[in-house]
Amino acid sequence: MHEMGIAIELIDTLEELCKSNKVKKLVSVTLNLGEASMVVPRYLEECWEASVPDTEFKDTKLKIVQTVAKGKCNVCGTEFEIAKNSQKCPNCGAVNNFVPISGMEIEIKELEAE
Ligand SMILES: [Zn+2]
Repeated sequence: MHEMGIAIELIDTLEELCKSNKVKKLVSVTLNLGEASMVVPRYLEECWEASVPDTEFKDTKLKIVQTVAKGKCNVCGTEFEIAKNSQKCPNCGAVNNFVPISGMEIEIKELEAE
């Protein structure tokens, strides 16, 4: 379970962002979480809840937006949603023959400050 490490890293990043942007109170943080990042949103929320009480973010709401994993077919170049198409190119039918192009990200999308 690496969600705890991600939560702690997120807190570090937010502390720096708040300092450099002179944010006094962070109301919420929105995170883009790729479905291929192997992070379970519910676990990450739990780790966040467990980590923030001792920090300036104890009242900050964590919002998670899951992003779809997409791949580009090595055979015909078609871009498609991997899970939805069961790892198969909808254009030429090549199975498991693609380059992942999105869905691995764990990134801060939006900060809401007071
Ligand atoms: Zn294809």
